[in-house]
Amino acid sequence: MKKKSIPVRQMASGDSLEIPVFEFEGSGEAPSVYIQANIHGAEVQGNLVCYFLLDYLAKNPPLGNITIVPKANPYGLNAKLGEYTFGRFDPTNGKNYNRNYFNLVAQNLLDGQENPQQINLSEFIKNNNDCTQSTIVSRFQDELNRCLDEIGKNQKKFGADYGDFVCFQLQKMAQKADIVLDLHTASNSLNHLYAPDISIANMNANYLGIENIITIQNEFLGALDEACFIPWYGLQKAFRKHSQLEISIPVEAYTVELGSQERADEAMAFEQFENIINYLKFRGSIKGEVKKPSLKYNICRPDGYKRLFAPYGGIVSYKVKPGQDIKKGDVIAHVFQFDFVDNPKNISEAKKEILSPFNGRVINLTDSSIIHEHMEFARVMIKE
Ligand SMILES: [Zn+2]
Repeated sequence: MKKKSIPVRQMASGDSLEIPVFEFEGSGEAPSVYIQANIHGAEVQGNLVCYFLLDYLAKNPPLGNITIVPKANPYGLNAKLGEYTFGRFDPTNGKNYNRNYFNLVAQNLLDGQENPQQINLSEFIKNNNDCTQSTIVSRFQDELNRCLDEIGKNQKKFGADYGDFVCFQLQKMAQKADIVLDLHTASNSLNHLYAPDISIANMNANYLGIENIITIQNEFLGALDEACFIPWYGLQKAFRKHSQLEISIPVEAYTVELGSQERADEAMAFEQFENIINYLKFRGSIKGEVKKPSLKYNICRPDGYKRLFAPYGGIVSYKVKPGQDIKKGDVIAHVFQFDFVDNPKNISEAKKEILSPFNGRVINLTDSSIIHEHMEFARVMIKE
């Protein structure tokens, strides 16, 4: 095992923040792996999972190269506000730390327009149309690396926003891997997974042992998993359009949600670690017997994963728990708002019910009982 540290920010006080990186060299030709945790500062369950992974890999050398980054965002981890951690957004500019990765494929370049930080797919196809699949994959990987080099040069020349700088450093490592797991948590939640629909179709995602799965489409919103697999989706789609060649996507990337923010549960982390190990055995990156997944999976598309927003501001008492199945009309929460009371006979007016608009499964509840009107308070998978 090799350990290195990437310096990412000198604080005003002069202290330096660094990202520790642990690298295990594979002993064979096997898929390479990149696993990171804690890009959102309050989401630390994955840090414990990384602890178990490091311990396992130190004793059981892998077949493929494996890189583990247990705390990807030290500034986000340090950003305390009272007892809470303001870790999802950069407090200096409000940006979500998981929306700063780089889309290396141009979607809408006009004719003749060039951006050295993005691959022009039509140009790439024109230059590589007669090549074999393996040459195309290797040349496309070279192009992705070239674009990242250009971003790095640009950041060096003009300076970079902290989130952009950190994401660039992380993407450079993730980009080299065949398998990318970005470990997160939601607010008050249970395990769930964001997975590209192709890995649902080929059942690979099931080996991660997570029951609730939200598929993601070919749309770049700035997250690490998208930055890793969407360029390949784009390449596959472009080749389908322009020639008969069917490019198989060599990269598998997931955002893995490991429960609730601000929590670190060792027993749960050990189970989550065992599931990741089983998936890596299934993919051949490490040795060992694979357990067949046995869960009954609950899968929905992004438009079936609904955010619910508060119809009133006030104090919320949740009547459901993450993982609970609910029916249309079930009470999800009570909201207490004393401004609704103007008559001693109607004290009960202070308590309003929020009802579920559909049948579904509660996945996530906002981790606070203090809610303004129009704030998100729950996320529910629709089950009709
Ligand atoms: Zn997160």
